[in-house]
Amino acid sequence: MTSQPTTNDFGAPVGSDQHSLTVGPNGPVLLHDHYLVEKLAHFNRERVPERVVHAKGAGAFGTFKVTADVSKYTKAAVFQPGAETETLLRFSTVAGEQGSPDTWRDPRGFALKFYTTEGNYDLVGNNTPVFFIRDAIQFPDFIHSQKRRSQSGLRDNNMQWDFWTQVPASAHQVTWLMGDRGIPRTWRHMDGFGSHTYQWINAAGEKFWVKYHFKTQQGIEFFTQDEADHKAGTDPDYHRADLFNSIEAGDFPRWTLKVQIMPYDEARTYRFNPFDLTKVWSQKDYPLIEVGVLELNRNPQDFFSEIEQAAFSPSSLVPGIGLSPDKMLLGRVFAYPDTHRYRIGANYAKLPVNAPHATTTSSYSRDGAMNPHNYPASQPEYAPNSFGGPHADVSLVTEADAWTADTEFVRQAYTLRPDDNDFIQAGTLVREVLDDAARDRLVSNISGHVVAVTDGAILERVFQYWKNVDADLGARVESVVRAAKQAQN
Ligand code: NDP
Repeated sequence: MTSQPTTNDFGAPVGSDQHSLTVGPNGPVLLHDHYLVEKLAHFNRERVPERVVHAKGAGAFGTFKVTADVSKYTKAAVFQPGAETETLLRFSTVAGEQGSPDTWRDPRGFALKFYTTEGNYDLVGNNTPVFFIRDAIQFPDFIHSQKRRSQSGLRDNNMQWDFWTQVPASAHQVTWLMGDRGIPRTWRHMDGFGSHTYQWINAAGEKFWVKYHFKTQQGIEFFTQDEADHKAGTDPDYHRADLFNSIEAGDFPRWTLKVQIMPYDEARTYRFNPFDLTKVWSQKDYPLIEVGVLELNRNPQDFFSEIEQAAFSPSSLVPGIGLSPDKMLLGRVFAYPDTHRYRIGANYAKLPVNAPHATTTSSYSRDGAMNPHNYPASQPEYAPNSFGGPHADVSLVTEADAWTADTEFVRQAYTLRPDDNDFIQAGTLVREVLDDAARDRLVSNISGHVVAVTDGAILERVFQYWKNVDADLGARVESVVRAAKQAQN
């Protein structure tokens, strides 16, 4: 390969990559060696702030193909029969930092960008159908409890369990997390979920509530705690490497997208609040309906520009898809674009990975730091204008994001319905979904984590928390933990 001459960042050739400009071979370095200064100064600025959550991850591009007909539920172009859409999927852990092992027990991010003909649609989900909390006002506290102590810089199981046991809404997600699916064997061998309830709107303007399930075609596979601990020490980038190498080898992972659809009015009368992110809709009530297949088939060419700078947000919606009165979702709609403006900059949407690929942008956003171009610079900068600038589509006002709410402002939990109990669905998972071997591993995983709790009052609450999920499970956890603690003394 003929190599190009090295240039500085402005394209001019440089004389040496090896030696600074000095006063004689042994003399001091000269400040006007502007190439040296450029190299060092740029190096100092190579990192953007890592994501506060979901810092460690990787991703790949692919295609989403619609294989069924769900046009009676949504008019979104991306979900019309036969549609094929370019996608980007980023996987991640939640609590760990950039260099943390891929196989720590943690939910996995499943952040999907569809480059649709109607603009980019982001579905920013996880590999679990539920979450630890149901109101975004608790999110910073929850994450603080899972990250590091301010004083020591250490993670602390006391604060994790202190938070979880004081927030019983967490029980379903913690049960899921401590089970087999809490450590997927690879990203290819796990499901993805939109988790929240969203709104779909069809061409006639009818509204439905929808939940997304991406079912892995590779089959579910998991690591036991021991296997994961071993991998964390020997191959901390295991999941990242597995995805990259599979795609390089032409072994393209696939997921079947299925949805649950709830008629709009049934949300008022379902036995629990269907917008509560700590609950699933039973598949017996709302069976899965096939939509299409997602395939990942192209690795990024440049990890930093295409993955690290990739920015996903639940606010990136397209006609035919809207939000729901899920308090976590509504908080995320603010938090995601805000974090990207801080992390990448005001013009993050103009980076090639974040800009639309299947349509163009004609917005009135202008200028700002690191702006490569204004959206049609030749068009007026303001609206309304008399010079043919872009105009809003008023027909969209009445559709997405619309639901009935005619009451006073309050700071209160969701109104309770008969099955709005924090422990019901966690208990169902333990008793009706897991088999004996999976229940044994659940006891072992929970106990292994709880043994590190040193605060006696928190420990007592932990035992009660698990008894609330399932009496037998709680008794077993208590007995294993007490025995282990006694053996330590
Ligand atoms: P179903 O029997 O119809 O569904 C059970 C669900 O549990 C399936 O989606 C299954 O996924 C999943 N599952 C199987 N093993 C595990 C595991 N080790 N960890 C986590 N999930 C697992 O029952 P319901 O829909 O009435 O739900 C019953 C319980 O199942 C819920 O309380 C919830 O805890 C759990 N669940 C429900 C989901 C839903 O969307 N309804 C989704 C995931 C879990 P698979 O088909 O891949 O085996």
